[in-house]
Amino acid sequence: MDFTLNEEQRGWQMEARRFAQEEIRPISLARDRIAEPAQTIDWDIIRRGSRLGFRTAAVPREWGGHGIDFVTQVVVIAELARGDSAIAKTFSQNWKWCHLIGDRATPEQRERLLAPFLADDTYLLGGGITEPNAGSDNRLPPAGDPRSGLRLRAERRDGEWVLNGEKCYIAHANVGKLFMAYARTDPDAPLARGTSVFAVPIDTPGVRVGSVSNKAGWRFYQNAELFFENARVPQSSLLGEVNGGLEARGGKNAKFGELEYSANAVGVCDAAVEMGMACAKRERRGGRLLAEHQLVQLKLSEMHMYTEALRSWVLRLAAESDASAAGHSPHGHFLMNFATDAIQRVCYANLAVHRCVGNGEISAGAEKLVRDAIIWTHIAGDSVQRMKSVQGLLASHGAAREAGGRRSAAS
Ligand SMILES: Cc1cc2nc3c(=O)[nH]c(=O)nc-3n(C[C@H](O)[C@H](O)[C@H](O)COP(=O)(O)OP(=O)(O)OC[C@H]3O[C@@H](n4cnc5c(N)ncnc54)[C@H](O)[C@@H]3O)c2cc1C
Repeated sequence: MDFTLNEEQRGWQMEARRFAQEEIRPISLARDRIAEPAQTIDWDIIRRGSRLGFRTAAVPREWGGHGIDFVTQVVVIAELARGDSAIAKTFSQNWKWCHLIGDRATPEQRERLLAPFLADDTYLLGGGITEPNAGSDNRLPPAGDPRSGLRLRAERRDGEWVLNGEKCYIAHANVGKLFMAYARTDPDAPLARGTSVFAVPIDTPGVRVGSVSNKAGWRFYQNAELFFENARVPQSSLLGEVNGGLEARGGKNAKFGELEYSANAVGVCDAAVEMGMACAKRERRGGRLLAEHQLVQLKLSEMHMYTEALRSWVLRLAAESDASAAGHSPHGHFLMNFATDAIQRVCYANLAVHRCVGNGEISAGAEKLVRDAIIWTHIAGDSVQRMKSVQGLLASHGAAREAGGRRSAAS
């Protein structure tokens, strides 16, 4: 497969690289060290990145955005994440919901929802699925059981929807302006058949922000609780069909989610490799450069291998996603799982190289990468995500065999 970037893709890559090196990296560790989680965000970097297109990049050109393809999206995310994984995610989180709006909204909704987003450099988007009693159950719900999964309730009253319930860990809940709230519109149906999505402005009466999550990693990136207390939204807030399900299958939103985490991991791995190599070539132990020690060489070798394998897979899936209008491939989930393994191994190996020096200040950057990398074990490569990967693969194998059987029976 040819992964040569075209001129436009290369342009985005170089601009993202410059922005990450010159503007993100200098503030990364300082923002990470701020103790109060709601204070770590830096609006200035968001404004500057937004002016370069990093907030609105995924909105199609005909709707006023930049319309970059999946290959460019992963390349930009990786470059930004090399500067700071959480800042990269703060930008790309908006793309995720732009893809959902693209997948589900009517032309009228698109215009109404995207116009303020495109016009304001500080307008951030978020989406709420997770609740205190529903995390993994939303991802792999026990088949057919209506009691499992999210409970936020949306009821139709007097031509409006009334929302009651709560969400947690919601990205941008305390700083964003528009949220895609996943709610049960039929509590007696299983999750996949009784859930709808509503676009809810944060200033809707009855919507209240709770406490901000004090995370060990991704500290710049804001997550908080959201409470819905008789929050009324108009019928026109409904995105897609009533009971339209959790995922817009076949749409860009689902494909993007897997690419996004995996591409971000590439950037973190790149930062770790760069840091590990520099440390090994600069620092000495036992009278020799670290790079001359066999154990350090083995660590660097492992770091390089995992990083390059991950990059190849991410680019391949992004290119396939651009080429195909079909739903997301079963490989997408495995890629996220692999990204989780790769980022852990690479970041821990980098920390091990730095720990050879025995100086806390020198290893602070390596420690931050490990804390950021742990995020993947919660959202991209935990046991439920891995079971989901295998179940998708088993289902597609069955379908492929059946299609093969039908073909041979017909021939
Ligand atoms: C940084 C970050 C950002 C997030 N942003 C958002 C957001 O913007 N919007 C949103 O809606 N949510 C968000 N989330 C929440 C995220 O989707 C949940 O954390 C995730 O779904 C897991 O749910 P949970 O944390 O409740 O873990 P749990 O569901 O309690 O799972 C805990 C562990 O148990 C394992 N487990 C659970 N059930 C089983 C089983 N049946 N068999 C085997 N193992 C099992 C899981 O794999 C996991 O390892 C975010 C989370 C993080 C960490």
